[in-house]
Amino acid sequence: MLMLEKNAADNANKAKSDFLADMSHEIRTPINGILGMNEMILRESREENITEYACNIKSASNKLLVLINNILDFSKIEEGKMSLVHAEFDMADLINSLVNMISVRSEEKGLDLIIEADETIPSKVIGDDVRISQVIMNLLTNAVKYTETGSVTLRIINRNMNDDDVSLRVEVQDTGIGIKEEDIDKLAKTFERVDEERNRHIEGTGLGISIVTRLLAMMDSRLDIESEYGFGSVFGFDLVLPVADPSPMGKYDEKRNVHESDDVSGTKFIAPSARVMVTDDNSMNLKVASNLLKIFGITPTLCSTGQETVEKFYSDKYDLLFLDHMMPRMDGIETLKQLQENDILGDTIVVALTANAVVGARDQYLNAGFDDYLSKPIKVSDLEKALRAYLPESKIEPVSEGETKVVVDAPVEETFDDDEVIEFEAQDGNGKIADGKFDIVSDVSLSQARAYGLDVDAGVGYAAGDPDFYLEILYDYANTAEDKCSSLQSYKDTGDWKDYEILVHSLKSASKTVGASDISEEARLLEEAAKNNDTAYITSHHDGFVAKIRELAGKVNNCG
Ligand code: ADP
Repeated sequence: MLMLEKNAADNANKAKSDFLADMSHEIRTPINGILGMNEMILRESREENITEYACNIKSASNKLLVLINNILDFSKIEEGKMSLVHAEFDMADLINSLVNMISVRSEEKGLDLIIEADETIPSKVIGDDVRISQVIMNLLTNAVKYTETGSVTLRIINRNMNDDDVSLRVEVQDTGIGIKEEDIDKLAKTFERVDEERNRHIEGTGLGISIVTRLLAMMDSRLDIESEYGFGSVFGFDLVLPVADPSPMGKYDEKRNVHESDDVSGTKFIAPSARVMVTDDNSMNLKVASNLLKIFGITPTLCSTGQETVEKFYSDKYDLLFLDHMMPRMDGIETLKQLQENDILGDTIVVALTANAVVGARDQYLNAGFDDYLSKPIKVSDLEKALRAYLPESKIEPVSEGETKVVVDAPVEETFDDDEVIEFEAQDGNGKIADGKFDIVSDVSLSQARAYGLDVDAGVGYAAGDPDFYLEILYDYANTAEDKCSSLQSYKDTGDWKDYEILVHSLKSASKTVGASDISEEARLLEEAAKNNDTAYITSHHDGFVAKIRELAGKVNNCG
């Protein structure tokens, strides 16, 4: 009986945390949409008051994202689903990125940001840099939040180092409101906010310290707090990390990125000499990625299969590879494995492209050997971050605002080779191949696209804010639709669920990219069903799904 009750409670708990995870994910998607569109306003508007509204949208949305991420993290930790990913990282980079993230906020409040980092700290250590920086960032954010005048200090001390490990002491000190002695103990309790009367005008959830305490426990450390009420606080912890490169880090800001700021002007850099490859089996995705990269002056090498990618790596070197996960025959994970096993990857950073940005995606990709992942459809801001983080500094050239426009408006060169163009061959509504490549048989306008029920704003957002490019993508979608529908049909008829899953997965992201969110959602459910061999679901939903795609394609192709 007791056992049954325990099982029921476990199930309920699991359902709760699955729900939380799903909800967080579902909430994140529209927020990302808001942020993406807003980014366009920030890039394109030169009107001061509009830019100011957009800045406020950005800051509110970012706060919401932090909150959602915190809820998600907390539920993962509670479920024991959070695992640390230990990898080599550069201490100076970590400090730099923390400084970059917090400096805007501390400047806004007129606080001095003081960084005291021992130059003897080993330059490379092993640990989960993302979680370590999350802990410190939480403490820094609080320090700024609860301090009105004075300073915030980040101190990292090299306490002791031997051949294997370094013992670091990390402290975040502020000259803020401080915490009463009797409240300090309460802080480790879940969601506890203290001194509510005094802090009532400061936004907060009490999640931050709870997460910090739990993350530190996972790293065999604990948070200690010293505070003098009314004068300030010191939050600190000790961390023992294996050393990967004992040479001293030196001044942390010596190789500081020139441009990690929250500046709202257009693209802040170009990298025309960067060698970037994008691999995706969906030609439309390749086209989108290549156009987005053009904003940064980059002409990427495009590959449509894992096999081709591996072959190219034998002869060429790349700084960065964006590698799709779900591809027929050789998927992204297998491709990466082959690149590693054949020892041809060199120093290339590999970023997974995925339409499945679900909980644990990061861990999954890092464990599979990727350096990072980007979710599809790719957002300009995410791409910008990835380029900035992963391209060699020497290839990044800052641009002034004036130049930016020129880069954004640069004409799109066609970079597909003949094989790949086949996918773009125009077809009429009945699936017949029309004469000539790119022979667009219709001329849909944005308002027509809207009338077809498409979320045109989202689609244009995914097309780097370029309406013409969006329409081009939409034509491609319509022109290739019939082929895809009939392949899908034959996979269904032969019970080839693996290929069904892969194709419907690619229809999911392609549909989302053109703003057909309902079709994309149906594709997602069918993908799920194919993964679980749920043939009953597929049988009852396949026809309707295919009919919808055909209907949309027919409208676009016939412009009616
Ligand atoms: P919140 O979202 O409320 O800031 P946290 O978990 O991050 O939640 O912090 C819990 C409580 O600890 C806060 O509500 C605040 O009362 C107190 N606190 C945290 N950091 C500081 C600080 N640097 N100075 C003063 N009080 C702090």
